[in-house]
Formats: sequence, structure tokens, C-alpha cells
Amino acid sequence: MSGLEDLESRLEELTSDLRETSAAALLDDQIRVDGLVWAHAYVQAARATRAWADRTPGALRSSIAVAAFDDARAYVLGDDLAARAAAADRLTEIGRAGGIEPGAGDDDSQRMLRATVRGFAEREVRPIAQAIHREDRDVPEAVIAGVAGLGLFGVSIPEAYGGSQQSAPDTTAMFIATEELSRASLGTAGSLMTRPEILVRALLRGGTEEQRRRWLPRIADGSLLVAVAVTEPDHGSDVASLRCRAIPMPDGAWAIDGTKMWCTFAGRAELLMVVCRTADAGHRGLSVFVLEKPAFPGRTFEHVQPGGGTLRGRAIPTIGYRGMHTFELAFERYVVPSDALVGGEAGRDRGFYLTMDGFALGRLQTAARAVGLMQAATDAAMAYAGQRLIFGRAERDLRLVQAKLGAMVVHTVAARQLGYAAARLVDGGGGQVEISLAKLYASRMAEHVAREAMQLHGAMGYGEESEISRLFVDARVLAIFEGAEEVLSQRVIGRALLGL
Ligand SMILES: Cc1cc2nc3c(=O)[nH]c(=O)nc-3n(C[C@H](O)[C@H](O)[C@H](O)COP(=O)(O)OP(=O)(O)OC[C@H]3O[C@@H](n4cnc5c(N)ncnc54)[C@H](O)[C@@H]3O)c2cc1C
Repeated sequence: MSGLEDLESRLEELTSDLRETSAAALLDDQIRVDGLVWAHAYVQAARATRAWADRTPGALRSSIAVAAFDDARAYVLGDDLAARAAAADRLTEIGRAGGIEPGAGDDDSQRMLRATVRGFAEREVRPIAQAIHREDRDVPEAVIAGVAGLGLFGVSIPEAYGGSQQSAPDTTAMFIATEELSRASLGTAGSLMTRPEILVRALLRGGTEEQRRRWLPRIADGSLLVAVAVTEPDHGSDVASLRCRAIPMPDGAWAIDGTKMWCTFAGRAELLMVVCRTADAGHRGLSVFVLEKPAFPGRTFEHVQPGGGTLRGRAIPTIGYRGMHTFELAFERYVVPSDALVGGEAGRDRGFYLTMDGFALGRLQTAARAVGLMQAATDAAMAYAGQRLIFGRAERDLRLVQAKLGAMVVHTVAARQLGYAAARLVDGGGGQVEISLAKLYASRMAEHVAREAMQLHGAMGYGEESEISRLFVDARVLAIFEGAEEVLSQRVIGRALLGL
């Protein structure tokens, strides 16, 4: 497909032109930078889809790859009516074909992993996902035990520390497992692995050997669940401005004082990664602490230490992403020992870098969460449109419906392949920008796919009993957390593309 190479050259020209602009003007011109970032996201999604279709050819895969290219071309160059009609015809064909197996193109070990996790998620998670969402229940212990039993908390932990990662990392395995859990439920299962991934990365990068040996094996076997507290009431995207303080005490311990917001799973988790201010020096004055606490079920908790330090938690009601509960946390003179500081004295004031490093993998996992959700939405729309009769014929026989179903398939495949491509780069030691692109693209596409799938359900999709209504509200959070899409566009991807 020479068209894709031409489009890539055109995009390179546009990017070079923009590089000629002064850095100050670019930082001010957020709209142009955002447009360029999205152009790269569409083109890279088309490139990853093309590579997938080339690896294992087939007529349907080829059509999906061309449809992903249609999308990219329309975004970068704009489309006339004839091109739009041809693209719609292609989508109609794809929709009529009924989609493609999520594992299409997997190798043997990936197929086995996918089948195992899918079997567990279908059996243990999906049947209860709607009730947990609607009644805002806790994630059941059986689900946590099941995820632990499959070894999924340890996929990114080296064997030497009790995990299943052999000499070479396999980030695609993490992606596939997350995808399949999220296909059953984002809140009940798909997000269980995210927090450990962030803390594990921070410990492997910056922890002392003693800290790794103390925590990693128990994270890997699921006996210590993890929550990550970065965000505060006044500072979310602007991590460098965090204010929650850790104050050194004469005996080497630290006392934490301040408020954290939006800390998912903070009640049930036994390990809390907390980013605190240890010096008044912007991003150079933050440190990461890991504190051990009892697990509390439900939506409120209070932990009072023998010396009077307290940690109080209150779950913030949310429209979706329920089950793990997302907490506001108030620390008052909450004392942690000296070895709670990640990296010991050498790690002091290095918390910003460790946090950002941890988030990088969390972002890729969020792309995987989005892909799983999109797959569930596509499956639900295919099934509903197949059995709903409209004017005496199946909804799925209507051409416009087929085109919408086709677009869902294309976006889901493209997001998945973009994610896998980023995962392979991570295994090779790179991929930082590609991770953010994958997260950016998958999160927005998940919202779009969930919206279209809900639309095809008519009124039924607006009813709380329908699975698609849960997928719709769950999808909304993906572009907000793990780097809001504007932050990824302006401060991560845009800067890297333009060399700022
Ligand atoms: C359900 C849920 C669970 C969460 N779980 C966790 C967790 O476990 N741990 C944790 O620490 N945090 C968690 N968060 C918090 C999340 O990471 C933050 O919400 C996110 O970082 C954004 O911060 P903020 O909400 O303060 O938004 P702000 O930083 O105030 O930004 C508000 C909006 O401004 C816009 N914006 C921001 N920066 C720019 C820019 N440079 N250019 C253009 N526009 C911009 C964006 O639209 C952004 O959404 C969670 C949030 C939710 C909703």
C-alpha cells in the first residue's frame, strides 16, 4: 500500500515545518501541536495495523488495514465525498463479516495466555460485573485470588523476585492479560494489575535490594495488594507541584501530613505508594514512600497508629470504574519507618522520576484496558444488532449499522496493534513516546466505540441493566487518568515529536 508511505512522508514534512517554528510559539500553539500529535496517532495506528495484516495475510485483515489507513488519510489530508463513500463501503463489508477474533495473529504462547485469562474472566468476572457496578460493591476476594492464582500480579516481576518474568521482559503478555480481564470488566478485574505494575517499576528502578526482596515476592503472589497515591485536591496533572509532606523525624522515621485524592483501591490495598514532598524544590523535591497498612473493606476506613498518627479514607462516588473504589486520603502525622523511603537516602528527592517511570508502563496498561473494553462493546453491539428486529429485518442487515460495526472492529484492531507495537519497543528498552500514543489513541477510540455500541442498542443501551451502559461510563475515565489526553499531547508526545 504505497498510500501509507506517501502519507507518512507528508506527515514528516508537516512535522518538520512545525519544527521550524520557535519553541516558545509552539508551546503557545497548543491546537496545532494537538493536531500534529493526533495525526501521528492515526498514522502509527494504520502502520501497526498494516504490519499485522502483512504478518498473517487474509482478505478481511487486509480490508481492516486499508480501513485504518482511510481513517489516517482522512485525518491528515481531509477527504472528499467519493473517498468517504469508498471508505464507508469498506467498513460495511467488515461489519457484515462479523468482526475478527481478538487473538488473530497471536503466537502459541500468547494464544494460550489469552485463552486462560479469558476463561477465568468469562467464568468468574463477567457474571458479577454488572451487579458490582450497579450496587458499587467491593471487588470479591475470589476474583483477587483468581488473578493471583493465574500469576498475573507477577508478570512484570523478574523470577528472582518471585514473579514470572524470565530473562527478557514480555510486555505483550501483560497487555493481553489486561485486555482479557478488562473485556469482562474494567473496574472489577481489568484494573487490578495496574497499580502493582507502577510500584513494581518504581522498585525495580529505584528501590534498594532489601526493599525489592521485602515487597516484590508478596506483590507477585497477590498477598500484598497495591494502591498508588499521587494526585492531590489542587494538583493532578501538575505532579511537580504536589504538597503532601513527609517530614523527617529525629529517629530517621518520616511523618506524612496532607491530603491525597482519587487513590484507587486504597481501602483494600495493604501497600500504599505515596509521593510526598521532602524538599521545596519543585519536581526535584519529591520522594516515593511505600507504607504497609491493614486491608479495609468498604468505602470508608480509619487507621490509627499506636503513637496517634492517622490515615482516613473516604471513597469518592464515581459514575463508573466501580468495585475497587477511589479514595480521598487524609494523612495526619502518619509515621512510616526510614526504610519506607524508596531507594533509601539515595532515593530522597528522586520521586518525580520514579513516579513518571512507573506511569509509563501504567499508560500502556491503560491502552490494554481500553482495548479490552472496546472489544466488549463491539461484541455487545454485534450480538444486539444481530437479534434486534427493526421494520421486520435484523438491525445488523442495515448498511449504516454494518458500517458502524465495521468502524468498531477497525478501531479496536488498530488500538490493539498500536499497543502491541509499543509493547515490543518497551521490551527492547524504548517505546516511551509510543506508549503515550497508544494510550492516547486507545482511550479516545474506546469512548467512541462504546458510544456507537450504545447507540446501536437504542433505548436498551440507556438502561442501567445493559452491559453497554456500564462500558460507556467506564470508558470515560480512560482519557482522564494515567495522563490526561491533553497532557500526553502537549507535554509528552508533542514535545518529543517537535524536539522541545
Ligand atoms: C476514577 C479515577 C481513578 C483515579 N485513580 C488514581 C490513583 O489511583 N492514583 C492517583 O494518584 N490518581 C488517580 N486518579 C487521578 C488522575 O490521575 C488525575 O485525575 C489526572 O492526573 C488529572 O488530574 P486532575 O484531575 O487534577 O486534572 P487537572 O490536572 O486539574 O486537569 C484538568 C483538565 O485540564 C486539562 N489540562 C491539563 N493539563 C493541560 C495542558 N497542559 N494543556 C491543555 N489542557 C490541559 C485536561 O482536560 C485535564 O483533564 C484517578 C482519577 C479518576 C477519575
